[in-house]
Amino acid sequence: MNFNTELLHSRFDGDQATGATVMPIYQVSAFAHESPEKLEKVFDNKAPGFAYTRIGNPTVASFENRMSGLEKGIGAVACASGMAAVTMSLLNVLSSGDEIIAGSGLFGGTIDLFEDLSAFGIKTHFVDHISVDAIKPLINKNIKAVFAELIGNPALDIVDVDEVSAFLHSSGIPLFIDSTTATPYLIRPIEHGADVVIHSTSKYVNGGGNSISGVIIDSGNFNWDTERYPVLEKYKKYGKYAYLSRLRNGIWRNVGACLSPMNAFMNSVGLETLGLRMERLCDNALKLSKFFDSVAGIDVNYPALQKSPYYELSQRLLGGKGGAIVTIRAGSKEKAFQLMNNLKLPLIATNIGDVRTLVIHPASTIYLHSSPEQREKAGVFDDTIRISIGIEDIDDLIEDFAQAIEGLKEE
Ligand SMILES: *Cc1c(COP(=O)(O)O)cnc(C)c1O
Repeated sequence: MNFNTELLHSRFDGDQATGATVMPIYQVSAFAHESPEKLEKVFDNKAPGFAYTRIGNPTVASFENRMSGLEKGIGAVACASGMAAVTMSLLNVLSSGDEIIAGSGLFGGTIDLFEDLSAFGIKTHFVDHISVDAIKPLINKNIKAVFAELIGNPALDIVDVDEVSAFLHSSGIPLFIDSTTATPYLIRPIEHGADVVIHSTSKYVNGGGNSISGVIIDSGNFNWDTERYPVLEKYKKYGKYAYLSRLRNGIWRNVGACLSPMNAFMNSVGLETLGLRMERLCDNALKLSKFFDSVAGIDVNYPALQKSPYYELSQRLLGGKGGAIVTIRAGSKEKAFQLMNNLKLPLIATNIGDVRTLVIHPASTIYLHSSPEQREKAGVFDDTIRISIGIEDIDDLIEDFAQAIEGLKEE
């Protein structure tokens, strides 16, 4: 099946009980069973069924199943937010004393989280960009995971997943990929060696900007040595399902970071148009960045522009596309604010992956609490504007940005 057909038909189950053509919203907390014997089996994973929505729910399960299929994993666990997914994916295997390596160009919330984890004895080494050269000198016996965003938000650096995962596997270390900004439309990181894939599905998967949510997908390929990952000892017997088993039966359910059935439903609806939206978004982003590239005084960053250091990787890994985020530098914070104030169409909002174009000044918002050094490493300068491209007609977007930039000169 090709991508758009797969979105509609692969693992699409509707509702077997009623024939409903869309999986309905099971907006319920608990599921009653005919006997205590049956409920015991459900609790012990010895019979299929649902007990309590924090642990499992048919609407959520249907969404998880579709995401897992799309990303070519062996299973998925949906979470209340992208941040919950990032947190749970790592805490599922880490213990106090462990260390991880992460890129400095990560989403601001993830950088803040990794700092929070230091209070629990988990240390993060930040490198400018996740590459074999950057991580090699940091490898030691305590390094238990490498975490990277496939396309960094907002640094827009692309990770060479094939190369990095091959190197890490030779050292017995798993690669965790946050693929939020790439989406399975551009790449399925598991096919390139990623071990665990995470999405903030609040973004492109949902697509309409109407629900906060996240998902963790396990490749099933990583061989978790329980001497290195003692928290998985009890789950070793599940073989390649060890990671997912602990997640589902342990930390994720106990923390209570479950996805609501309503939000799972909104995501399943959104997911079906992911291909159509991404095609349009990537097309718009390339055209808009080419326009910016032609304007004096505006410095544009977009991986699919030939001048980008990640152009080659966008060709090799992402089929020549560059995703739907573009950043520009306007010259000063004042100019950046003025440009944003001059815009008529884009909304000023801290989100990506909406159908509408959104703009934000990251330095004064998402990176407000970061040091100037942290900001620069994330590609965030005082004059940076991040644009999350929408599906508007490109001529209207270009016209709007052109008049907003023109307006700067009159100041
Ligand atoms: C938004 C985002 C997150 C966090 O997701 P939430 O759903 O807002 O919790 C994590 N990673 C990336 C790349 C993001 O863009």
